[in-house]
Amino acid sequence: MHMPPSDPTPGIDDIPPAAHCAPPVVDQARFGTPIGTTPWSAPATPPQRHGVLTEAAHDDKAALAQQICDVMRLMYQQEVVVANDGNVSCRLPNGNILITASGVLKGFMTPDQVIECDSQGNSLDGRKVTTEIKMHVAAYEMRPDVRAVVHGHPIYAVAFSLAGISLAECTIPEIIVTMGTIPTAPYSTPSTYDLPDGLKPFLARGDAVIMERHGVVCVGSDLFDAFKKMEMVEHTAKITHAARLLGEVKPIAPPGVQQLLDTRKELGIYTKNNLCDGCGAREVCASPLYP
Ligand SMILES: [Zn+2]
Repeated sequence: MHMPPSDPTPGIDDIPPAAHCAPPVVDQARFGTPIGTTPWSAPATPPQRHGVLTEAAHDDKAALAQQICDVMRLMYQQEVVVANDGNVSCRLPNGNILITASGVLKGFMTPDQVIECDSQGNSLDGRKVTTEIKMHVAAYEMRPDVRAVVHGHPIYAVAFSLAGISLAECTIPEIIVTMGTIPTAPYSTPSTYDLPDGLKPFLARGDAVIMERHGVVCVGSDLFDAFKKMEMVEHTAKITHAARLLGEVKPIAPPGVQQLLDTRKELGIYTKNNLCDGCGAREVCASPLYP
């Protein structure tokens, strides 16, 4: 069938700028001319963003203790923890662990409220360590590659577990590329050894896990990497919650998931991803509760 020619689409030049529009950002006189040196390089001493210490050598205990406080404060500000909730730790090159003291207001912590423990979680200065240290020790034992563990009780992620709704579905491309899916470990009593034991199979395959009726634990190559995953888990829970209010949430079809895993490979992302571990995307997507 022959289609009649449509009216030519007006070019951008043909549209007169509205009088009230803000002026263009690009200065035509400078278009394409270099600014400063190329390639651009960051200053030797990077600025601290939002008063948060983003750089710390792996054996600088004072800087790491400050980072722990910074991460805890950010988690408090984002309602991942309230009151004395949650704990954050990092592992030193000698295997020892720096961890938040128990019973302190986590949003207002200072570096002197960080305790050094041995690799088994025994305090080295006599101060009381959180009972949740077991979870941290288990994560470090399970994952020789991680330097930091963050644990909190984020509202939306925990609410999904209370409602028995899984977030282990292939719905958001960003999460598939980075973490795979977000599994939920079955309930076990907090502070007992059942809890870290139950976490191990999930941490073996991924960097983030929701603990049913309790909270979320994330591991990372440093404190901010682990914190970033905590943010992503809660953000995913919020998006999923919003989407479920609007209608049905459908997973990405397996070929689409496979493409994302290929992209992940191309990007050189090698964080633990529970979809990459030979389990097959469909297997995970199809299960109402992971695994
Ligand atoms: Zn907890």
